[in-house]
Amino acid sequence: MGTQALHREDATLAQCEAVVTAVGEDGVELDRTVFYPLGGGQAGDTGTLVLADGTRLPVIDTRKSKREGAGPDDSLHLLDPTSGWRERLAIGTPVRAEIDWQRRHSHMRLHTATHLLCAVVPAPVDGCSITAEYARLDFALTDPLAREDVQRGLDALIAKNASVTYEWITDEEMAANPQLVKSMSVKPPMGFGRVRLVRVQDVDLQPCGGTHVRNTGEIGALRVAKIEKKSARTRRVVLEFA
Ligand SMILES: [Zn+2]
Repeated sequence: MGTQALHREDATLAQCEAVVTAVGEDGVELDRTVFYPLGGGQAGDTGTLVLADGTRLPVIDTRKSKREGAGPDDSLHLLDPTSGWRERLAIGTPVRAEIDWQRRHSHMRLHTATHLLCAVVPAPVDGCSITAEYARLDFALTDPLAREDVQRGLDALIAKNASVTYEWITDEEMAANPQLVKSMSVKPPMGFGRVRLVRVQDVDLQPCGGTHVRNTGEIGALRVAKIEKKSARTRRVVLEFA
């Protein structure tokens, strides 16, 4: 049985009770988790696994499990190698999994802003990186982009306070509607039998497995820190918190 990825149903969950289901070289897998694994350009979550006796084991990153036979939602919680976790965790150990919420919320704000950018800049995405400090989006575009125009467009969409909601379609429906895919570099999260679409009301609709805020107002003030010509056919936009 694979990991139940609670963050996909509710990205606002900061913690959950769980049980260790697999022990790897660098960390453990859980039966359910709120930790988002590195993927789709978004950084993996950090946080803590808290034991029944109160011992706190730092999680330094989260990655998709590469264990043989791992399911698409199975995630490895990478533990601080100096924490002595190997002596404390075994299959069946109950833990409370707590993410670093401030860091994750920064990911959610910046990640949601990248969806808005897709509406502001009408070009396919050819690369994406979302950290707690910045979001970087590469557009397959030969025309120059004016920073002021992108900033104005982004500000207007944040101010709209548009709702962010989820819809599910089957893998077959996804395959039949390739125009929904905005990214050349990130494949839609298929293999689950169904694909999650993220709708920013009246702004954007695309498949995405990442974590998002509930409305665009929650993104807060951002600035277009940089627009650069990454190559002859690529323009890179960097967003930071204002
Ligand atoms: Zn997304």
